[in-house]
Amino acid sequence: VQVTRAYNFNAGPSALPLEVLEKAQQEFLDFRGTGMSVMELSHRSKEYEEVHNQAKASLKELLSIPDHYQILFLQGGASLQFSMIPMNFLKSEQKAGYVLTGSWSEKAFKEAEVFGNPYEAASTKDDHYRRIPLQNELQYNADDAYLHLTSNNTIYGTEWKDFPAVDVPLIGDMSSDILSRPIDISKFALIYAGAQKNLGPSGVTVVIIRDDLIEKANNDIPTMLKYSTHAKNNSLYNTPPTFGIYMLGEVLNWVKGIGGITEIARRNEEKAKLLYDAIDESNGFYIGHAEKDSRSLMNVTFRVKDEVLEKKFLAEAKQAGFVGVNGHRSVGGCRASIYNAVPYEACRAFRDFMKQFQQVNG
Ligand code: PLP
Repeated sequence: VQVTRAYNFNAGPSALPLEVLEKAQQEFLDFRGTGMSVMELSHRSKEYEEVHNQAKASLKELLSIPDHYQILFLQGGASLQFSMIPMNFLKSEQKAGYVLTGSWSEKAFKEAEVFGNPYEAASTKDDHYRRIPLQNELQYNADDAYLHLTSNNTIYGTEWKDFPAVDVPLIGDMSSDILSRPIDISKFALIYAGAQKNLGPSGVTVVIIRDDLIEKANNDIPTMLKYSTHAKNNSLYNTPPTFGIYMLGEVLNWVKGIGGITEIARRNEEKAKLLYDAIDESNGFYIGHAEKDSRSLMNVTFRVKDEVLEKKFLAEAKQAGFVGVNGHRSVGGCRASIYNAVPYEACRAFRDFMKQFQQVNG
């Protein structure tokens, strides 16, 4: 059956590769000869264990994760990580720096206030979060528990290009750009990401954590909220989100199949360029939110030059079949989220739509 796929620019959950959905569909009722759906397998069965360990191995391979890091599959979304991080790593009297680059870093900061003493290590709030701070704007203390940053700001459409080399444990919320480009994992002590943008369906949270950090964590917290519980048990302390982990594994296989992280990064650059060029060539008809050297390859945020036209643009985009182009409810404007699984053709179609809309209304 030929299905018509939407031009899906949703910010999350977002597009999944068609090939992955088709494979999941094929295997849905009878998972590899078991006579059961993958969802019906015991999480203690050898068939499920293979899915679980394969997903971990693929992530390790694709992101070149060194041996002294653990890969964990948790639940609760990136939002629970906002709490788990300070719970595990903030000790009384100790501080932690937070780089504020948008709403998600603000939320992470707020959760840390529940447990200890976070402070602003840098903030670009006064610039309406149009940019990532420069390395020399970062202020932190050598004896801090950690420094937290958000690698890609989903709502504002800004992204770190290079990560700072710091001498405190660096923690990164990579929910909206993990697996979009090669990164040097060794700069980080902990990386976390809700799966629902580049990695798979919602319901799985990936945590990549360095061994020494697990050992240093606080012990007087609930079992389920300790990283050590999940690290010791291969993320099988309790029932994991098995279907989500299966889908994650299949998304990773898809990335491997198309040429790995370098090819994904190349495609992402190419797709983003289409839309940013349309903005830059519009003579101010479209106004990009992010400063050029902070532009996100995942979330392209912009406004149309006046509000009436912007409303019209969004209405016509919707009618033309472009899904999810409205900016986040907190900031308005327009946003095209072009994660790994969004095809080049969808971006080209949207670019053409932008050009045409300008021609008619400019
Ligand atoms: N961090 C970032 C950068 C995000 O984009 C999001 C969601 O969009 C979150 C955290 C929250 O993730 P979750 O919904 O998995 O809790």
